[in-house]
Amino acid sequence: MLVRFWGVRGSIATPGQNTVNYGGNTSCVELEIDGNYFVLDAGTGIRLLGLDLHQRRERGTINLLISHPHWDHIQGLPFFMPAFREEYELNIFGYESTNQELEKIIANQMDPTYFPVQLGDLDAKLNFNKVAEGSFRIDDIRIDSIFLNHPGYNIAYRFNWKGKTLVYATDNQPYGFCPHLGRWATDEYFENAKNHSFKHVELYFEDLNERIIDFAKGADLLIHDTQYTPEEFRRKIDWGHSSYEFTAELAIQADVESVILFHHEPEHSDEMVRQIETQTNNILKNAGHNIACQAAHEGLEVLV
Ligand SMILES: [Zn+2]
Ligand SMILES: [Zn+2]
Repeated sequence: MLVRFWGVRGSIATPGQNTVNYGGNTSCVELEIDGNYFVLDAGTGIRLLGLDLHQRRERGTINLLISHPHWDHIQGLPFFMPAFREEYELNIFGYESTNQELEKIIANQMDPTYFPVQLGDLDAKLNFNKVAEGSFRIDDIRIDSIFLNHPGYNIAYRFNWKGKTLVYATDNQPYGFCPHLGRWATDEYFENAKNHSFKHVELYFEDLNERIIDFAKGADLLIHDTQYTPEEFRRKIDWGHSSYEFTAELAIQADVESVILFHHEPEHSDEMVRQIETQTNNILKNAGHNIACQAAHEGLEVLV
């Protein structure tokens, strides 16, 4: 599995002199497995990926997996050159709600009010595939999916191929975070919740946090939302993102080989992202773990 990062920023593209090292494009990750091409999310990073891919391939099938349709995960699609070429077939995967089909969700951002070219004008062959929780296969690659904790909905994908595993889990907030205690899902939190007659939450939250830990279990590479510092996280509860403390905790509990910090906060300069990378590594080392950890940057290539 060869992974390439084309967009690592969360929420909004952030070009400028303070973000040149890590990059300012929004979420887009390329994954090449045994001749199969996957693109994880279609943030603004997908524009340069499209140009580069065309240099390398000129035609073929591309599997585009959308985590969720917030702008920073779909906004680059109308600028993805292969979508304008009939030599390409684009298999688009994503969740669709009961009242809106995936095709409509993608088409809406290209409505004439917002964009000059409509989805139906694209020359590539487009196929839409609904994903919910479960598994599907492309050749001998098994892809598992679960929902994450994020406003609206959001899907994490796990790629399994020949004993190697990669988990892509962006835009994820730990369940059961208690702003008063300043921690996520602890025994104290559940005690506190029970005393306040939120009896139903205890198993619910415990269960849900176990789910993402199980989902990432033993992964060779975990790519995870690390948008905030712990202080920012406390101020932005329910915005649907994680602090580096949670990413480190998840990597430890899931016993992964390596973790990549992803979806950087738009307000964070290169220096701040570097500090977050250092802090996360400190947590892992102080807990006695030898998990390789780095912050994603545009152009980063990792062989799994
Ligand atoms: Zn996002
Ligand atoms: Zn989002």
